[in-house]
Amino acid sequence: MFFFVSAAALADWHADARPKMGTEVSVYFWHEDELQGEAIIEEIFAEVDRINALMSTYVESSRISDINRRAADEPVVAEQELFQLIRRSLDISVLTHGAFDITYDSVGQHYDFRERRRPDDATTEAERQRINFRYVTLDKAKGTVSFEQQGVRINLGGIAKGYVVERGGDILRQHGVDNGVVTAGGDSRLIGDRRGRPWMIGIRDPRKDGEVAISVPLEDEAISTSGDYERFFDEDGIRYHHIIKPSSGRPVEGVHSATVLGPDAVMTDALSTSVFVMGVDEGLKLIGCLPDYEAIVIDAAGQIYYSTGLADPGADGADSPEATATPGTC
Ligand code: ADP
Ligand code: MG
Repeated sequence: MFFFVSAAALADWHADARPKMGTEVSVYFWHEDELQGEAIIEEIFAEVDRINALMSTYVESSRISDINRRAADEPVVAEQELFQLIRRSLDISVLTHGAFDITYDSVGQHYDFRERRRPDDATTEAERQRINFRYVTLDKAKGTVSFEQQGVRINLGGIAKGYVVERGGDILRQHGVDNGVVTAGGDSRLIGDRRGRPWMIGIRDPRKDGEVAISVPLEDEAISTSGDYERFFDEDGIRYHHIIKPSSGRPVEGVHSATVLGPDAVMTDALSTSVFVMGVDEGLKLIGCLPDYEAIVIDAAGQIYYSTGLADPGADGADSPEATATPGTC
C-alpha cells in the first residue's frame, strides 16, 4: 500500500536547469508521478541536444555547418526540420524588411565575446556585403539550400532557442502536462498557468544585474527577450554585443532590450531580435501589424515603451490615435 501514499506525496513541481546551446535551458512543470517527471526532463534535454547537433554553427558536424561550407558551390540537402526553420527565417526577413537576417553571420562569425574579439572596420565592410537573405535559395522539391555568393553564411541563433522551447512544450503536452515552462536563455514557452495563478515573468533591467524592470502575468503564451547584455564586451565606451544590424554590419545601437509575447515562441524569438534591430518606432509599428503579438522595448535612455495592445488596457483602443494609424501602415 505504501506506494499509493508516496505517489500522492510526490505529486509536485519538477525542475531542472542545464547549460546548453551557449546558455541555460530550464524546465519546470507539474506532474503527478516522480519517476515519469524525471523521464520527461531527460526527454526534453535529449531533444535540445538533438536540435543543437543539427542546427548549431558551433558544431562542426552539424548540417548547418555543412551548408555553410558547401552551399555557395552546390545545393546542399537540408534535413526537413532544418529546411523548414530556414524557410521561416527567410519569411521573417521579408516581414521585417531585412531587420531579421540569418546571413548576419558573415560578420557575426568574427565576434568572440568571451575573448573580446571583434572584426576590424575593413573586415566588417567586406563581410557586410554578404549579408542579404536573398542570397539564400531554397528548393522545396529537392529540399536543398544554396547560396548565390561565396562567403555567405547562415546562423539560426536568433530563432533556434524559440524552436527548442516550442519543442519542449510539445513534449510536455504529449505527456499530459497542463502547467509548465520551458526556457532557453531569453525565450520561454508557458503551458497553462501556475496551477491557479498566472506565471509572473520578469523582464530584466538591462543595466542592473539581477534586477527586474517589469513583471508581466502570463498564461499559455510564449515570451522572448533580446538584450545587449546577453553576450557583449565594452571597449572605449562602446558596447559590442551579439545583435547585428544587417544594413551596417555593426551591433545595433539605441535599444537595450526588446521583449515580444504571443502564441508561438519561434515567432517571439525572431521578432524580439527584429524589434531590437528596428528600434522603438519601426519595431512597435511592426508589432502593431501582428494582431497576436505584443512588445515591450527599453531604449538606451532606460525609457520603457509598450505596443498598443499593452499600452493602455483600460482605454477604448479603437479611438486612440495609434489604433487608427496602424492599419494604414501595415
Ligand atoms: P538570445 O540569443 O540572447 O536569446 P536573440 O534571440 O536576440 O538573443 O538572438 C540573438 C542572436 O541572433 C545572436 O546571438 C545571433 O546569433 C543572431 N543574430 C544577430 N543579429 C541578427 C539579425 N540581424 N538577424 C537574425 N539573427 C541575428
Ligand atoms: Mg530572439
